[in-house]
Amino acid sequence: MLPDAAAAYESPLQGAQAAQATHAPRTSLAAQSAPDPQALMRQRRGLFEEMSALTGIPWHYLAAIDQYERTLTRANSKTRPAPQGAIAIAIAPERWAGPLNPDPEDKETASLRLFGGIGRDGNGDGLADRASDADLLYTVARHLLKHGTSEQDFAIGLWEYYHNTRAVQRVRQFAAIYATYDRLELSEHAFPVPVGSNYSYRSTWGTARSWGGYRIHEGTDIFAPYGLPVRSTCYGIVEIKGWNRYGGWRIGIRDLDNIYHYYAHLSGYDKTLEIGEVVKPGQIVGWVGSSGYGKPGTQGKFPPHLHYGVYRDRGLTEWAFDPYPMLHQWEQAERRARKSSR
Ligand SMILES: [Zn+2]
Repeated sequence: MLPDAAAAYESPLQGAQAAQATHAPRTSLAAQSAPDPQALMRQRRGLFEEMSALTGIPWHYLAAIDQYERTLTRANSKTRPAPQGAIAIAIAPERWAGPLNPDPEDKETASLRLFGGIGRDGNGDGLADRASDADLLYTVARHLLKHGTSEQDFAIGLWEYYHNTRAVQRVRQFAAIYATYDRLELSEHAFPVPVGSNYSYRSTWGTARSWGGYRIHEGTDIFAPYGLPVRSTCYGIVEIKGWNRYGGWRIGIRDLDNIYHYYAHLSGYDKTLEIGEVVKPGQIVGWVGSSGYGKPGTQGKFPPHLHYGVYRDRGLTEWAFDPYPMLHQWEQAERRARKSSR
């Protein structure tokens, strides 16, 4: 529930001001050559918690919007400027200040309102500053609250903000992952089959031949015996499962880097897993098989293997990239961990 929407809108609480003061000014943050990632996570969490207290929006929703925009910045680094502060939400000057505002860098709240700009003052300093983390978060939060405080209301608010159903889906997916684990740091990964078991793979990116009907091979084939467990490589959320003519029994999992992980040709997947369910690295999601290339249930048309593909969402389009370097890295990390735990 929103404690006092009207008051929160017009006069941000003292808490946000105190929070702003305790966080490092952005100039000093930018001056650091390599900010400590854990300190950055703590700073972000603090900002989300403050804005959550101010607006009644759960912190994980604000975190999800911020992370979604961070992935867009990463995937479109030529067209989206790097964030100036700890928050990656980017709002164009003309949207912030108002399309008819003669000064696109205007920070005066009264004139922003006059010109229809969406920028708001979230830290109580009297200015609506696109470079202020609190002002950015507060501005987005206000949009989210336009229709109410239920999940469905947020979804409508998100759609009106992004005008993109994929964006709405991503933010809701990310929010579910953050809500499940109640933390921002969820970057751990696992190799998709148990390290130390009997499997083999090599870099086959872009080769013409492939099992499963891909014109060029978009992924890595991990050859392994029938029934070997297939594990989630990441913290993520189940986006797709079921039969695909080429991929056979397959499951698709979205992670917080906005990467879609595709596991195909399974002999089966965990039937208790539902679309929208959150998974963690190493969690068994299915088993190696040779399904695909025909009607549901078809198998045995090629040797059993896991086809593992990764796709990066760029906002409107999705692009496959070579999973081999990541697979190798995760495998090595698990080998080292196994050795050190002996
Ligand atoms: Zn393959």
